[in-house]
Amino acid sequence: MSHSTISLEELVITNLGEKKFPSPGWQRNFSADGTGWHTDGDRILLCDHTAELEASLAKGEPLPSIELAGPRKEIFFNPTQTCVAIVTCGGLCPGLNDVIRTIVMQSYYAYGVRRILGIQYGYEGLDPAYGHRPLELTPEMVMNLPYFGGTFLGSSRGRKDTKVMVNRLEALGVNILFVIGGDGSQRGATDLFEECQLRGNGISIIGVPKTIDNDLMFMDRSFGYQTAFAAACHAVTGAHAEARGARNGIGLVKLMGRDSGFIACSAALATGEVNFVLIPEVDFDLEGEQGLLAALDRRLEQRGHAVIVVAEGAGQDLVPASQARLDASGNKLHEDIGVFLRDRINGYFKSQDKEVTLKYIDPSYTIRSVPAAPEDRVFCLNLARHAVHAGMAGKTGMVVARWHQRFVHLPMKVVTRGRRKVDPHGDLWRSVVEATGQPAVMKG
Ligand code: ATP
Ligand code: MG
Repeated sequence: MSHSTISLEELVITNLGEKKFPSPGWQRNFSADGTGWHTDGDRILLCDHTAELEASLAKGEPLPSIELAGPRKEIFFNPTQTCVAIVTCGGLCPGLNDVIRTIVMQSYYAYGVRRILGIQYGYEGLDPAYGHRPLELTPEMVMNLPYFGGTFLGSSRGRKDTKVMVNRLEALGVNILFVIGGDGSQRGATDLFEECQLRGNGISIIGVPKTIDNDLMFMDRSFGYQTAFAAACHAVTGAHAEARGARNGIGLVKLMGRDSGFIACSAALATGEVNFVLIPEVDFDLEGEQGLLAALDRRLEQRGHAVIVVAEGAGQDLVPASQARLDASGNKLHEDIGVFLRDRINGYFKSQDKEVTLKYIDPSYTIRSVPAAPEDRVFCLNLARHAVHAGMAGKTGMVVARWHQRFVHLPMKVVTRGRRKVDPHGDLWRSVVEATGQPAVMKG
């Protein structure tokens, strides 16, 4: 999606109302001279491509720009009277516990909020029918969370009734809800935001976007991605050792990447041990001179071993769809490309009377459940800090994100309207083709 498809109006952040309260004292002292604060008028350009900018200027259109994140001098909520709640939804991702920890610490220490609720098991925790009681969170409870993977609050999939959830937020007296989750969660959060706006109940809904695949729009990176890809590298290195340890050894690793192959590409580049990378964005054939099987055969002839990395959403056109399968949230479940490839590769070499040793590795669940690596932890901390700043300032219907090296506020709707993908004609994919030596085209 080109930047030019987004207008300035679509990037406007909703504010609940006038900011009447001074930001807590220590922050004021910290920037007593007036520096270090951001106003809502501090914005950066969405697009830094000169041709696109010039085209907008020539048409007399305003340049799309984004609000900068950061503490506001005056805030909307009176901290001592404020109740914040945190919910985590969707699949696991390294760093969830870091975000929970910092939201609690920042709310408690930087703003003096004393009522912090942990909603259990995703949106289920906002539906009284499930009977999950919210946890009263304190700094002591969350202090050591980042040492563990997963989410302290639990998560879930599955649609819940928006009105029921907003009733629950009102009944609990929640003023700010932080939703840590992926595209589905942020769509759910948008529904909550719209219902709260309709009711005029003054509840702020702030998202912290989560995607292990690094595939959300208008973000330089998402938290947990770097940790996940580092963990993925271990699996690739293992596959390489297995492949080298046998005559005609083949290591096949399935990595995350339902719609975007960023982890697969990065793991291939970082290890330098991968010979074929298969991602959802680039179609490939199995059969034929140009297909994967013949290319693999050639590679074994030349080097005696091979490593293949396949993203879970790759080659879906090749796998016979038994039936359309959906998860509890309505996400399309992919056919298992890893198992399919394993069987097809084994079958192909059997039919050629060629002995190969294929080791199939699917590390997905071990990757997504590891604790965040140090750089991701800092990133999570900053996302969470800015989420709290935004919530306390009375912003709503938005997520915090990193764009062009700055922390920014983006409307939830903008973030969920598409997915970031590996550009098959871009430099990342070209670097993969160059670094692996795989055929640029594996389709006849
Ligand atoms: P992941 O990266 O693991 O897919 P996700 O947040 O996209 O994370 P989902 O299971 O799709 O995970 O959604 C999480 C929660 O958001 C679920 O409770 C789901 O019901 C809700 N949700 C998903 N899609 C929508 C939607 N279109 N509108 C409202 N709520 C949604
Ligand atoms: Mg999702």
